[in-house]
Amino acid sequence: MKLVFATNNPHKLQEINQLLGNSFELLSLNDIHCYEEIPENQETIEGNAAEKSFYIYNKYGFNCFADDTGLEIDTLNGEPGVYSARYAGEEKSSEKNIELVLQKLAKIKNRKARFKTVISLVIDGREIQFEGIVTGLILEEKRGTTGFGYDPIFQPDKSHLSFAEMTMEEKGKISHRGRAVQKLVEYLSQFSTE
Ligand code: IMP
Repeated sequence: MKLVFATNNPHKLQEINQLLGNSFELLSLNDIHCYEEIPENQETIEGNAAEKSFYIYNKYGFNCFADDTGLEIDTLNGEPGVYSARYAGEEKSSEKNIELVLQKLAKIKNRKARFKTVISLVIDGREIQFEGIVTGLILEEKRGTTGFGYDPIFQPDKSHLSFAEMTMEEKGKISHRGRAVQKLVEYLSQFSTE
């Protein structure tokens, strides 16, 4: 079965390709010649994930899944949340986003936070969503160099390493996206022909 993953992020494509197996021909946005910016105009992570998957299904006619992720910080009432990518501005700079979070949490003791990923899968026009959550703490400064986004300042519970100090495999086992992807893969196994 052909299945579009509505992303061009090589980290995410590699992660999912490893898990899906040979029954699925995983296609990226480049593969289907979709070069435009996909709208993300909703006010929730769930809404944005669905907006992206239905956009591809309706316009390009492929079964498709899309993910949307937010970092939710307790003392900031769940910010940056759905605005995680553009928290410090439309240029979507991870460096600046991290700086802004560290600045807002300066001198604040409660540093509890969580990452939430929602995957929206559309098959033959019907949608199903899968959620993955990981709880942890925002560090006082950046640690580590792997991964992307907010990884250097997020340390998951029961670990002494930040996400950016882990290998991709270590992070994938416990991460928000890893957990959502596991649920997706389990669901898709019913369509497997292997
Ligand atoms: P998106 O929904 O994947 O576009 O992510 C929204 C924002 O969250 C972006 O700023 C990403 O850099 C950040 N983000 C998404 N996933 C992760 C992750 O696994 N670790 C750290 N930051 C992430």
